[in-house]
Formats: sequence, structure tokens, C-alpha cells
Amino acid sequence: MPYDLLVQHARVIDGTGNPWFRGDVAVRAGRIEAVGPHLGGDAVEVVDASPYVVCPGFIDAHTHSDYVFFIDPTAQSKVRQGVTTEVTGNCGMSGAPYFGGAKENILTASRGFVPTWESIPEFLEALDRQPKPVNIAPLIGHGTLRAAVVGHEDRPGTAAELSRMAALLSEGLQAGAAGMSTGLYFAPGAYATLPELVELARVAGRHGALLTSHIRDEGSRSVGFVAAVHEIVQVGRRAEAPVHISHIKAFGPDTWHTSGEVLRILEAARRGGVDVTCDQYPYDTTGGGLAADTLPYGFQGGKSPTQISQALRLPTVQAAIRAEVAANIQKRGGPGVLTISTYPADRSLEGQTLEAICARRRADPADVVMDLLAASYEAKWNCRSLSPQDVDAFLRYPPTMIGSDGSSLSIEGPLSGGNPHPRNFGAFPRVLREYVRERGVLTLEEAIRKMTSLPAQRFSLRDRGRLQAGMRADLVLLDADAVQDASFERPKQYPAGIPWVMVGGQWVIRERQFTGNLPGRLARRG
Ligand SMILES: [Zn+2]
Repeated sequence: MPYDLLVQHARVIDGTGNPWFRGDVAVRAGRIEAVGPHLGGDAVEVVDASPYVVCPGFIDAHTHSDYVFFIDPTAQSKVRQGVTTEVTGNCGMSGAPYFGGAKENILTASRGFVPTWESIPEFLEALDRQPKPVNIAPLIGHGTLRAAVVGHEDRPGTAAELSRMAALLSEGLQAGAAGMSTGLYFAPGAYATLPELVELARVAGRHGALLTSHIRDEGSRSVGFVAAVHEIVQVGRRAEAPVHISHIKAFGPDTWHTSGEVLRILEAARRGGVDVTCDQYPYDTTGGGLAADTLPYGFQGGKSPTQISQALRLPTVQAAIRAEVAANIQKRGGPGVLTISTYPADRSLEGQTLEAICARRRADPADVVMDLLAASYEAKWNCRSLSPQDVDAFLRYPPTMIGSDGSSLSIEGPLSGGNPHPRNFGAFPRVLREYVRERGVLTLEEAIRKMTSLPAQRFSLRDRGRLQAGMRADLVLLDADAVQDASFERPKQYPAGIPWVMVGGQWVIRERQFTGNLPGRLARRG
């Protein structure tokens, strides 16, 4: 019987970090059938890949594509980068459970999409059925669980609330969710104490799943970066569960050049038996929401996003929190490095620095930020707040994998708005261009390992992430000398140099063209 596909004469990079070799990959019935030099045999389709690297499809370890495919199933900004599986539900925020206080948080993040599910298993079923170009491995968000069960209150969960959260988490993990994410920087996740995190991490660990964390502080805002790293290591040690630091970074000038100290903490933890890893996006500029980044936790406590905007319309409220908002803006590097990326209430501000908006309005940065949020909670910015040396150091660390922290977007249609962070369109090609080809921070094989077998192992996606017989046929053909990524000036650009992408045995990108195939499924853990 002929193969469905034979990719011939490629530089084969198998995802394990091993050096490339010249060879072929054969595919049949959605799986890799054979990998090796000179495979031979007949095939329905033969692709001469002599100019290309063939490697496993990339697994984006950190994304927020929770709702995008319900809005536009053809959103291509990830698959065009070679991403064939997205880990969603990060930073404590997931699409389910959809009840109680979680409803408003979900509706604030869902770009107008209204969920049709309530429970986590129902959500996973809807995700599986929804046509989409890539596979999805969803995490369950602790902030969403907490909003559903405890609401937006600034207090520890009661014993009854904790066991309700644990039961919902268990149900979701049993249904195949990839793990639990926490967003300890965001309300309401920030109101969780160490015992709550340990108890929930233990539940995840019992299912063989991990706890990921947008840690409590990446800069100098509350407990500090180093203490926040220690906290998540503690959770892993006490719960005897795998833990994972999301988009690791040393945020803001006060925290620059602490990467060495933090990596020593992680190495000491690993030597001591704590199973800790991290992911990272390859930029010195972050993206985030103005509300989470500037408003005091005490002020956010007990308020839904709508109530936060309403409260900010009162001058007395603004006066009471102005000093802390101003300090938080300074800790991000000040108004000159903060650029509004998304503000649907006034699109003319997108792409402008906070400094420029303040000059035009003859107003203080804190007042401008609070006024923007009073008009609309949906305000995002890009912050050039990291030191490139720290970015390089975290990227070199072998347990660090690549995660875009972005979503599948589009250059047209309902997902093409705003001036998004270019990571949504270019995080993976940027690693290959800047950190491999131009600066040699990583070898090509090591970069691809961080995009394939490492996240597959971490999220227990057992039949993905390596070129090996029996694995799912998620494949990328790329021209390592030609890869180009989107820039901050023109962020909504599909990358160059990644002409073929296959998901589950079907081409989604074929000779640079989108085929219209939407073969993505739910990627269940285990
Ligand atoms: Zn995050």
C-alpha cells in the first residue's frame, strides 16, 4: 500500500535536539509511518524537500486562543508560524467553568463570543467539535475556577469552596485538560494563598498534570520577582507536583539582571527534586492589560470588570488610588516605553505611546490610564520593559520552552483589529531568525526541541512533538535561511520561510497557500 505522503531529501530535525540528517518522512492515515534516509516506496504525494528542514509541528506552550476559533475558524497567525498545537487557558483564565462570577470574566475576554457551555467537560467537547486549523490542549484556569466558586472577593477560599474548586478541576482533568494554570498577578487569582495553591496543585499532580503560573510578581510591584519564583517552587515541593513558570521574565528596570539569580534558584530546586520548567516569548517587550498592570489589588477586590470601570468614573476613587497607579506606571519603565496596542473604544490611540497621549491631553500618565479604563476596561498595551540580556539567559536555559503568550489572529475579518503584539504572528519565526540565524543564541536543533518534544513531554501530549513512527503527522517544512517574522511597526504580517504545515495528516499551509483544511482537534493529555 502506498504512503499518503513522502517528504524526501529534507534536513530532518526530529525534535529531540539531535543533529539534523538528510532523509525522508513518510505519512499514512494521519500518522508518521517511517523516518530515515532513503525510505523509498510509493506515495500518493511526494514532496521534494531538499531546500527545507522538516520537523515536528510546533507546540505553542502558552497561548490565549480560548475563543478565537469560535469567532473565526480560519484564524491563521499561529499555523502560519508552524504551530500545530496551542496550549490554551493560560494565566489563570480559561473558557470554563462558565457560571457564577466567571461569566463576566469570560465575556470580558471573549471578544463578543457568548459561550454555549457551562461545565469544563462541555467546554472541551465544544473545543473538539469546533473547526480550527490547529490542535488545542487546554489548561483549566484557577482564576476562572475561583471567580465561579468564590466570586471576585479578596479573601482566602473556605474549606467548602476549596473542595468545590478541587472537584471541578478533577472533573476537567479527567476529561483530558492539559493541567491547571494560575494567574497570581491578576484578580481574583491574586487572592489565593499558598495552602490553596498547594491543595489544587496536589489534585493536578494526582492526575499526572502540572500547575502553570503567571507568578505573583515578575518585577517590583508586590512581593518581587525572586520571592514569586520561590513561591511557585514551594508549591511544587509541598504538593509533590510538577510546576511551570509562564513567560519567565525580569520585569522593569528595578528587576533587570536578576536572571542569573533566578536560574540558580530553579537549578537548585530541580537538583532537589522539584519538577519545575518554564516557557518564554522571544521579545524584550511584553503585552498586557492596563487594568491588571496598574490598579491596586485592594481596589480591584470584590469588583467585576464592569464595576471596576464604573468605580473609576468617580473623582474620589481616582484620587484615592492615583499615587499607586502612578508608581506602577513608573515600575514598568515609564510612559515613554508603554504603547497602547488595543483600545476598541478609541482606535485612534492604538500604536501611540502613553507619553504622546499625555502630551496631547496635557494630563498625567496616571490620570490618562484611569480615564481610559473608566471608558473601557478593554485596554491593552505593549511595554518595552525587559533587558535583552535577561531574555537571552532565560532562553538558553534547557528547561525553557517557547510560548507566544498570543492568540491565533488574522490579517482580515473579525480577528484583524487593533495593533497587536507581533508575538501573535511571529514568536516562533522570530526565535528561528534572530536567536538562531542572526545571533546564534541557540542552535536550530535546540530551538526546535524547545518548540516540539519539550512542550509535548511537559503537557503529556504523548504522540506529538517528535518525528518518529506512530506519532501524529503534525509537520513543518521551513527554510531556515529565509524565515522572517512580523515587526512592532507592522505586526499583522504572516511570516516568510515556512511554506508547508501539516496538521494530523492534512496540509493546512501548502506551498505558502492556506488550503482551507481545518483538521485541528482537542489534544487530550496522556
Ligand atoms: Zn500571563
